[in-house]
Amino acid sequence: MAKLTVSDLDVKDKKVLMRVDFNVPVKDGVIGDDNRIVAALPTIKYIIEHDGKAILFSHLGRVKTEDDKKALTMRPVAQRLSDLLGKPVTFVPATRGKQLEDAIADMKDGDVLLFENTRFEDLDGKKESGNNTELGQYWASLGDEFVNDAFGTAHREHASNVGIATAMKAENKPVAAGFLMEKEIKFLGNAVDNPKHPFVAILGGAKVSDKIGVIDHLLDKADKVIIGGGMTYTFYAAKGLKIGNSLVEKDKIELAKQILEKAGDKIVLPTDNVVAEKFDNDVPSKVVEGDIPDGYMALDIGPKSVKAFEDVLKDAKTVVWNGPMGVFEMSNYAKGTLEVGKFLGTLTDATTIVGGGDSTAAVKQLGVGDKLTHISTGGGASLEYLEGKTLPGIAAISDK
Ligand code: AMP
Repeated sequence: MAKLTVSDLDVKDKKVLMRVDFNVPVKDGVIGDDNRIVAALPTIKYIIEHDGKAILFSHLGRVKTEDDKKALTMRPVAQRLSDLLGKPVTFVPATRGKQLEDAIADMKDGDVLLFENTRFEDLDGKKESGNNTELGQYWASLGDEFVNDAFGTAHREHASNVGIATAMKAENKPVAAGFLMEKEIKFLGNAVDNPKHPFVAILGGAKVSDKIGVIDHLLDKADKVIIGGGMTYTFYAAKGLKIGNSLVEKDKIELAKQILEKAGDKIVLPTDNVVAEKFDNDVPSKVVEGDIPDGYMALDIGPKSVKAFEDVLKDAKTVVWNGPMGVFEMSNYAKGTLEVGKFLGTLTDATTIVGGGDSTAAVKQLGVGDKLTHISTGGGASLEYLEGKTLPGIAAISDK
């Protein structure tokens, strides 16, 4: 069922509590990539342009000791948000108490407030990460409506997404998705549950163990599942091919065998690979077909595999991609990932979705991101979505 979204709410004169994902990289008080702040702007702007009061909160990093607090304060995030919005943002250096309550009481329609890192509450018995009921109820008491726009934490059951939503609903206050959350649900949800066929999944990255749930779920849904990246060689081992010194998970070879049996001809593996004697960009590399020779490791898929993958992809109407085809961080092993990404960009008739994490970093680094339909902002969350799991943060949002 469709979820309630912020545009369904009457936000005028309302104190709108909004869970954002401002978990951005901060070093010595300086923000690196501010993509996540930018991604939340449409919803924040909607609230303030419709005369609501936007009360924002997010976690930032992991707070384990009192010392972590200095590096993980939200203060620089409030400043960057203010710059991006072109208006003042009130920062409250507390997660509860009189200072926060007074600041909220002083807000006028159209004002924006950001309070301190929700995980500061973890120093007091993991209240945020442990979804402490009292904390969820307290935060719910601060506002009239709750908007969750933090897709990146939707796979977690924390006080700042699930606890607060539960408490709001108990008081008959609305719980809605923000625009970013809505977009993620629409693209990832439709791709997996209601795809246009042919539906092709491309799964790469380092480990079979990380992706096994996704492979399993998508084998049921997709017409073809293309496998690339480091996990290829566990499948090679399962097929009895030689793998040299390539990445392998020995304890997953049996599982890979079972997957191959179940999949029939649905799984498409690389047939050639770029190999080198060391995990190093500056050593000679070569393309080999089939077996990986002794003393060598496979670090990227080869040109024939790229061609074969393109043949599978060319008629696709839906493509979901998670995980790079090789060690894309090193220029000599980035080609497979780049070529696949570039080819996806030419599929103008298909919905092309990148499912977060390293693949998102890869398409951005390779400059092909703007040619694709949707690039998910959530790493772990998008992976769990692709596994067909119910994400607690989304489940806690009211249905329309
Ligand atoms: P993941 O986080 O599971 O998506 O894995 C991404 C990581 O897998 C990246 O850091 C890649 O460098 C790495 N990777 C991809 N292909 C290979 C390979 N053939 N050998 C070793 N690592 C790889």
